[in-house]
Amino acid sequence: MRIDILTIFPGMFEGPLTESLIKKAREKKILDIRLHDIRSFTTDKHRSVDDRSFGGGSGMVMSPEPIFRAIKSLKIGSKASRKKSGSLLIYLSPQGEPLNQKLVNELSGKKRLVLLCGHYEGIDERAISLADKEISIGDYVLTGGELPAMVLIDAVARHLPGVVKEKNSVERDSFYNGLLDYPHYTRPKEFQKMKVPETLLSGNHKEIEKWRKKQSLEKTFLKRPDLLKKIKLNKEEIEILNKIKKSAPSIGARPRPKGGEQ
Ligand code: SAM
Repeated sequence: MRIDILTIFPGMFEGPLTESLIKKAREKKILDIRLHDIRSFTTDKHRSVDDRSFGGGSGMVMSPEPIFRAIKSLKIGSKASRKKSGSLLIYLSPQGEPLNQKLVNELSGKKRLVLLCGHYEGIDERAISLADKEISIGDYVLTGGELPAMVLIDAVARHLPGVVKEKNSVERDSFYNGLLDYPHYTRPKEFQKMKVPETLLSGNHKEIEKWRKKQSLEKTFLKRPDLLKKIKLNKEEIEILNKIKKSAPSIGARPRPKGGEQ
């Protein structure tokens, strides 16, 4: 997948794009990420990318001209041709469609993403009209679109074949199938008097799967009951959930394992 990032702060991407999973994906040529400094598309001597807002008020607005030029230089064609070729021009914006796992899956199927990062009061509305989609990473306002772009890239990259070693592990993560992930443990078997659940040490794979399914449903019921309304559970899952609901008061009262005693 190719990702082009349009930004006035390309330096902000240095760490996230040169470490860990994204670094490996780039080395393996699964991800081709290119940074474009919007400032280099300015024509005035001060290389200005912003101006005052018409109508008054505080705050600057990113000017449309350098953004139009930067996008033109990418040769991504019209909205219609982008649709055909599997490219998408995205403006990261708090007013956009909320980024969730469904949208991440959809984006990971694209050939090319162009991410436009705003700053200040945002970008001139005429430049927004170039975008195929506006995407928000949550109902709060950040200083710029760079962090949202990094969040989007990280979430999408995990779904590209070859990036995460085992495809299965991504598919078991929270949200993929509509539920939260089950609890994970590693060695030691006992730590500060807290034990790993017996079932996980039993070697009985069927029982382990059952335990994990129940834990996943229980965690979702306790932490994010809203998610349960959005998915279709099978008969077995409904039965497990009903049992969880019946014991709900005792689940709520259950003491959490004390951890981190130093
Ligand atoms: N005045 C704008 C508004 O209230 O809708 C907010 C502008 S914000 C300070 C500057 C830039 O940060 C935006 O142009 C956008 O690119 C980015 N941004 C801020 N919050 C965001 C969010 N929750 N999701 C995606 N992008 C965001």
